[in-house]
Amino acid sequence: METEKVKCLIIGSGPAGYTAAIYAARANLSPVLYEGLQPGGQLTTTTDIENFPGYPEGISGTQMMEDLRKQAERFGADLRFGVATAADLSKSPYKITIDEEKVIEAQTIIIATGAAAKYLGLEDEKKYAGMGVSACATCDGFFYRKKVVAVVGGGDTACEEASYLAGLASKVYLIVRKPFLRASKIMQERVMNNEKIEVLFEHNAVGLYGDNGVEGVHLVKRMGESDEQRYDLAIDGFFLAIGHKPNSDIFKPYVDTDETGYILTEPGTPRTKVPGVFAAGDVADPHYRQAITAAATGCMAAIEAERFLLN
Ligand SMILES: Cc1cc2nc3c(=O)[nH]c(=O)nc-3n(C[C@H](O)[C@H](O)[C@H](O)COP(=O)(O)OP(=O)(O)OC[C@H]3O[C@@H](n4cnc5c(N)ncnc54)[C@H](O)[C@@H]3O)c2cc1C
Repeated sequence: METEKVKCLIIGSGPAGYTAAIYAARANLSPVLYEGLQPGGQLTTTTDIENFPGYPEGISGTQMMEDLRKQAERFGADLRFGVATAADLSKSPYKITIDEEKVIEAQTIIIATGAAAKYLGLEDEKKYAGMGVSACATCDGFFYRKKVVAVVGGGDTACEEASYLAGLASKVYLIVRKPFLRASKIMQERVMNNEKIEVLFEHNAVGLYGDNGVEGVHLVKRMGESDEQRYDLAIDGFFLAIGHKPNSDIFKPYVDTDETGYILTEPGTPRTKVPGVFAAGDVADPHYRQAITAAATGCMAAIEAERFLLN
């Protein structure tokens, strides 16, 4: 198999990967970046970004990522199509296989492969993507001020998102499949004591409707062992909070991860337990999952890589 040696390999082309490429290129690390199946990352799937500092009028997600890409290219980052399909981080130089046909031997690696939100798998989630369906309350909650929204999920994230949205929306329905919440006691109490939140236990969302974006959700309520009731509930926004899947599978034998697969780093740094291997952005962040935090940790990872190579 063809082999190439590089000083700094960046895997992923979201805000974390491109920011790491800008910093690494400017530090003369000649970074090589593989973009993966989704060049530009998650933001290319949304319309306007209104919370990234520096854009008073907001900016389209695709445009922002195109700008970041150009900025990385301007400083000489080598941006390539390709997917990391296997990893051997057992000893330096670390080996990453690209598209099962080429091996990159890297002195440092920045893993910036992101995380994907989980959806229920309904056709309507795709149909209304960006038109009332969201997997990020922090990103999109602002658009639902004084409106009615539903959040799907029964864990800590769902309770957190419901509480956050209750600060903006006029009413929040929490759609929970089970007859109880899985969230921690404190999060459960926060939800149950919030008069704007109504928990719909033993409910399943089975579809959405609306001519102009989401106008309601089709629900099925379980009644006892075999009975069920179907009804429609008018809502303006449908938020998924049933978890994310970090893209960390190929690295798991070498770095520590939490039970969901988020890469664990030394607190306050992007350092994994493998010297010279760093993780930035959503793949290592179960808490914030924002473009600005991904970019920030991408910057930190590149600075760490540069310092690592000096030693
Ligand atoms: C619909 C939507 C709207 C959002 N709106 C906002 C918003 O308004 N404001 C905000 O701050 N945040 C928003 N977010 C969150 C934001 O998109 C993420 O926090 C951010 O993109 C994370 O950046 P990242 O660099 O960690 O990874 P991602 O953007 O997830 O990118 C991951 C990259 O890794 C690549 N990759 C994955 N696996 C491999 C592999 N094996 N080999 C090579 N490459 C690989 C992918 O191709 C992709 O390029 C939104 C998210 C979504 C889904």
